[in-house]
Amino acid sequence: MFGAVYGDVIGSHYEVHCTKNYNFPFENDSSFTDDSVLIAAVCKTILNDPSEIGRFGVRARSYQFAAQYRQFYSYFPHAGFGNMFSEWAKEPSAKQNRSYANGAAMRVFPIAYAYKDFTQMMLQVKASCLPTHNHREAITAASAVAASVRIALDGGSKDDIKEYIEDRFYDISTPLSTLRENHVFDSRASYSVPPAIIAFLESHDYESAIRNAVSLGGDADTQACIAGGIAEAFYHEIPEHIKQFCDRRIDITIKNAVREFENKYCK
Ligand SMILES: [Mg+2]
Repeated sequence: MFGAVYGDVIGSHYEVHCTKNYNFPFENDSSFTDDSVLIAAVCKTILNDPSEIGRFGVRARSYQFAAQYRQFYSYFPHAGFGNMFSEWAKEPSAKQNRSYANGAAMRVFPIAYAYKDFTQMMLQVKASCLPTHNHREAITAASAVAASVRIALDGGSKDDIKEYIEDRFYDISTPLSTLRENHVFDSRASYSVPPAIIAFLESHDYESAIRNAVSLGGDADTQACIAGGIAEAFYHEIPEHIKQFCDRRIDITIKNAVREFENKYCK
């Protein structure tokens, strides 16, 4: 799970200072952002109530996710949340948002770890999307990320992941080098999530997945969060120097939630 959080940390500087350089340095002003905050919120939701749900339980489950999103937002309101999310989070009676941005895909990792059955996982993914991203594009992206992680955890190959994604969700046949030329900041899920998956598919280890995702330019923290989360599930290994760089830059509340979750679900 920390693989996604570390991607967020390393990418945070480059969300503002876009780079196309694969060998970019890790910058001192890097910090966790909304991606990590909401991953922690999803961890907490599952830790509080891991029950499986049926098709008619999705709505009730979405309220549980919503409560934790709001709770964690209240701890870190300045972590880089978008306006639309902030307005929603500050207003307890706010209705569902229909955002089609990548915010639902960046926080979905704990679900893929906790629910091994694909049907159950997808119901949980949907419930996690509904409060803020009740939009087909956002749900598709979140489902694609969760599926990638689950296939990796089940021992699937990159070809298995690619085939699954291409069959159901996206055309991901364009190489990263081609995408990089014109890639810009656009947090729309259908624009930024497929390249993040490709960044993982073209990697050879955890660090190269992060470097691929950040050096696309654009929404670097979220792209690296997504590529890093899948890469961790696939490679099972994060270099020590990355852990040391990032661990100092993550708030203890986030760390504790993610650690507690890892102890239960990632052994
Ligand atoms: Mg962010």
